[in-house]
Amino acid sequence: MADAHSNLDALREDDVSSLLHPFTNAVAHGQIGPDVVVRGEGARIYDDAGREYIDAMSGLWAIGLGYSEERLINAATEQLKKLPYYHTFAHKSNPAAIKLGKALLSMLPVEMSKVIYTNSGSEAVDTAIKLAWYYWNAAGEPERVKIISRKRAYHGSNVASGSATGLTVMHGGFNLPFSQILHAECPHFWRYGEKGETEEEFSQRKADELEKLILEAGPTTIAAFIAEPVMGAGGVIVPPEGYFEKIQAVLDRYGILFISDEVICGFGRTGKMFGSETFGIRPDIMTFAKQLSSAYMPIGAVTVTEELYEKIASASNTRGVFGHGYTYSGHPVACAVALEALTIYQERDVVGHVAQSGAYFQQRLREFESHPLVGEVRGVGLIAAVELVADKRSKKLFDPFGKVNGRFAKLAYERGLITRALPASDSLGLCPPLFCTKSELDEIVDKFADTLEAVT
Ligand code: PLP
Repeated sequence: MADAHSNLDALREDDVSSLLHPFTNAVAHGQIGPDVVVRGEGARIYDDAGREYIDAMSGLWAIGLGYSEERLINAATEQLKKLPYYHTFAHKSNPAAIKLGKALLSMLPVEMSKVIYTNSGSEAVDTAIKLAWYYWNAAGEPERVKIISRKRAYHGSNVASGSATGLTVMHGGFNLPFSQILHAECPHFWRYGEKGETEEEFSQRKADELEKLILEAGPTTIAAFIAEPVMGAGGVIVPPEGYFEKIQAVLDRYGILFISDEVICGFGRTGKMFGSETFGIRPDIMTFAKQLSSAYMPIGAVTVTEELYEKIASASNTRGVFGHGYTYSGHPVACAVALEALTIYQERDVVGHVAQSGAYFQQRLREFESHPLVGEVRGVGLIAAVELVADKRSKKLFDPFGKVNGRFAKLAYERGLITRALPASDSLGLCPPLFCTKSELDEIVDKFADTLEAVT
């Protein structure tokens, strides 16, 4: 036993001496070291000391099918034995990539024509932006280079996706966002709605502001607008009544493409198969990752409409090859796992399941609305946030904000609950695995309630 402990201490020391962790205060990490996760089962993970945690965040909004889905493990193993890797450049393909492409296209709520693979959501967003640029070049409007995103959006951490992200924590120290990215206002009605304003009126105001931004920037210089159907990391901001309909009307007026970033919302999370369906979005480009493979393998994807594809294809004939892609685009193991994940979502009726369990989860979370520390409980399907405020009536933020939710997440962790302190407010994110049982959802809510009393 003593030996086992010293091995673990050595592992922690090696972590501190060897790794630079993403989104981690490096100095604090040197002092407190890592939480070493060694095992997962169902909706739970276990650390190296054998402590158990219910993961109400599906890792990073990703492991929708939980931690021990044998069918995904078998899909990976079988594919590894057959063909562990081959690329998809220059006419090469593999059966898993082909079958996954066909399956994904057949599930989408709008007609999409082609799929291109990436390894992550950040790469999917960068790819989508490059596809929009390439399309406008091919369409004879090369001056359309600007991309409009939104404040508090999260689209990833690469140069383009990190620029599209509307969280300042992602920009400082990196010379981001780059100049072709503009940020429209965040549509958080509870926080930014004016006194007496209805949700519809607020949505109209956001659409008017977007139009003003477009007119100021020059409509013929805008390539695309990118949005998550529900903003995830920025605070789980569910769009207010009529929002996307009004935004879409503005975009249509100026011929601007709509990129729907489904990296979190895709595959049942919001109670429909895709967030675009839940909120009536008609995208030209869609991005996917995370639950595409239920996080068992790194994979992302981008889809485009036939109209975009035709232009892109004809330009690749006149201009030279479509010069974009990754060594692992269409990786056979990642594709085989994703294909199995999509099969499972359909066989187990993820949409029907989340529609029911999501309604129950949201209703239980609303129990916190009367708590003196809670400003807002928001969410849809199996994604939610609880925002803590210094003053419930005035919605006053803590000063500085972003500390209390960190303390909350730590206290929850000590109680065996994983939630996530989100930036830009004092919100806690919740995004449990898609097939959590009612008693697991109750356990999450009860542990959250217990933590709320502890943090008060
Ligand atoms: N887009 C959205 C909506 C996301 O939530 C994320 C990650 O959280 C990304 C893109 C980036 O994905 P990845 O971390 O796989 O690069």
